[in-house]
Amino acid sequence: MTWQISIRGQVQGVGFRPFVWRAALERNLKGWVANGLEGVLIKINATEQQALDFQQYILRNAPKTACVTNSAIAPDDTESFFDTFSISDSHNEGLPVLHLTPDISMCADCRDEIHDTANRRYGYPFTTCTVCGPRYSILTGLPYDRPFTAMKTFEMCAVCREEYDNPANRRYFAQTNSCGECGIRIALFSTMIQATSHHEDLTTFKKLSNLARFQSCHPAAKAAGTAGHQSLA
Ligand SMILES: [Zn+2]
Ligand SMILES: [Zn+2]
Repeated sequence: MTWQISIRGQVQGVGFRPFVWRAALERNLKGWVANGLEGVLIKINATEQQALDFQQYILRNAPKTACVTNSAIAPDDTESFFDTFSISDSHNEGLPVLHLTPDISMCADCRDEIHDTANRRYGYPFTTCTVCGPRYSILTGLPYDRPFTAMKTFEMCAVCREEYDNPANRRYFAQTNSCGECGIRIALFSTMIQATSHHEDLTTFKKLSNLARFQSCHPAAKAAGTAGHQSLA
């Protein structure tokens, strides 16, 4: 029998689909999960008890940054039997009833990577994964999927694509996935030199960042600061 489970709330851009995918695989359930304008939609072939248990598991173990406000389950006679469990294309019919996901600060794993000189993301400031990174501020449409974000124009390199397609990777289906090879460039300009965030330029970039800080302590600014301090005293 086929069941439909809908999950509403802040459930997009938080790693919900990969989470459901893994949970279905562990239970050998077949069907699909997709983002829609009302949140996340799941269809599975299961007995009533299996479907109810699956729904409860999802609600109890949802990703940390998700916030489920409502969930419904019902038999669905419109679809028959599935061979696998997949992450299906997003559904974008109707009007959105979604809680938008805010931007999420960098997680500890991503932070470790950008400080690890042996990691390919060393020094890459836009490192993200399914549990962290910008969400709301890069949205251009709904549901939350790469074509509806500012990441649309950045085509993933082969290595990023491999991460994105690998269910065992924490960047599986990470819509903001990118690296220094294929992602966003950051540039710091001074009157003399330009440095970018390329790995090879990182040392120069850091030196220039320090220089910029130093220059912000211009004697005039310093004097104003001192004056302010004195008037407070
Ligand atoms: Zn992360
Ligand atoms: Zn890449």
